[in-house]
Amino acid sequence: MNLVVNSSDFETELERVVSEASRKQAIWEREIEEMKRKNFATICVHGAYTPGEALRNNNGSIIEPVYSSSAQAFENTYWLEGALSYKIPAWVYSRIANPTIGYLELLIAMLESYRQPFNASALCTSSGMSAIKTATEPLLINLKNEGTGEKNFVSMAQCYGGTFQLFNERYGKERGIEVRWVKDPADAGEWEENIDENTRFVYGEMPSNPRQVIFDLERVAKIAHAHGTPLIVDSTIATPALMRPLEHGADIVIHSLTKSITASGRVVGGAIVSRQNIVWENAPDKEMRHDFASWVKLWPARDAGPCMSAEGAAHCLDSIKTLRMRMDSMSRTTMAVAEFLETHKMIENVDYLGLENHSLHSLAKKYLKLVDSDENCYGQILGFTIKGGLENTRSVFNKLNLIMRATDLGRIKSLATIPSVSTHYQQGEEGRRLAKVPANMIRLSVGAEDARDIIDELDNALKAIH
Ligand SMILES: *Cc1c(COP(=O)(O)O)cnc(C)c1O
Repeated sequence: MNLVVNSSDFETELERVVSEASRKQAIWEREIEEMKRKNFATICVHGAYTPGEALRNNNGSIIEPVYSSSAQAFENTYWLEGALSYKIPAWVYSRIANPTIGYLELLIAMLESYRQPFNASALCTSSGMSAIKTATEPLLINLKNEGTGEKNFVSMAQCYGGTFQLFNERYGKERGIEVRWVKDPADAGEWEENIDENTRFVYGEMPSNPRQVIFDLERVAKIAHAHGTPLIVDSTIATPALMRPLEHGADIVIHSLTKSITASGRVVGGAIVSRQNIVWENAPDKEMRHDFASWVKLWPARDAGPCMSAEGAAHCLDSIKTLRMRMDSMSRTTMAVAEFLETHKMIENVDYLGLENHSLHSLAKKYLKLVDSDENCYGQILGFTIKGGLENTRSVFNKLNLIMRATDLGRIKSLATIPSVSTHYQQGEEGRRLAKVPANMIRLSVGAEDARDIIDELDNALKAIH
């Protein structure tokens, strides 16, 4: 059996195709660099899908084509071998990469590193939860000579219900990894007390869902980095139009693309975005630290297969084209709704970071701004509690007519849920106490309807109880 595969003729031919591919790639990279110098709204519309890219590789299609194809065919063995050994840029097989998803990944990376001196890269996944699992798992691997019970991770307690379950049940109870919960994330001292040299990652959600909790990202990043550990921030609710955590020191950003980024509601998807050279002192090799998202894409995600579909990516791409204007307009509408609720006599409390009496308002002002403006914008999610407890809350909720009852958010349509009996039900009372989710809270995700119609709707529903 002859196992030697390479000869010098082969090497020459391979070199030729590699150099042809890199010449083509360099042209595209120059176009992308030029696009990065444009303003945010322009990047949202075009991203990496430049006119040159359209003409060279996509028959001039004015919009990113949907590559509904499992795999890529090659001209000859040299192209195929070069692609499979990652020597030439190629997509090969849609579990690993796909051109439509690739355009989305490049676009998200461009938005998250907007106007920054460093590069970022992104990996899209089948859901927000798979993004969280795919990003955190490599950070929890067993290091050489490590005994059991030596590692921990630190997370704020008020995170998304699914994230809480992943951390508490799957990692904590099933795998025995120590989870350290930060109960008051606005207190930087509590993060500091919990993080040590065995902390594998630090995790925050900003603003959190549903309680709009935020923390001083810059300070927490410094604390994490002083211990050589990366900070991961789920910024699904803010979207890059309102906040870009990498510029404040985060190493990895998580998105559920299912939410505001793809407001249509046609897609479940997620993204992991990393800055170049994340802080990760114990990284088993340099490449993992240098370009974390690409490394995850080419190795662990290739082997596990949490990939997005090309159709899903196309819907996200369509939606991101209007991201900035949507977040701008919906934030204004949400503010008007919050101001209305605040004055209503049957409302106990309104949780919206934009309200001046919110305890985290001044911190929110520092971090949540409409990109390319000096204007503060606080997004489309708010919570409010109803006087008279859960039964009254259910009555108001049942009267909603235009606003759909759904455990969903970030839509072009307004949606509402009662978290204590839906998204946060499984966590039990103790979990809800940690997450600070009161029984009588309605979470409202404000859409792009006219603010007057949403306010009328809420006014009518509140008539159910007075
Ligand atoms: C919905 C959500 C997730 C999970 O995303 P899926 O796409 O539903 O898996 C994670 N984080 C936040 C903040 C979310 O709102």
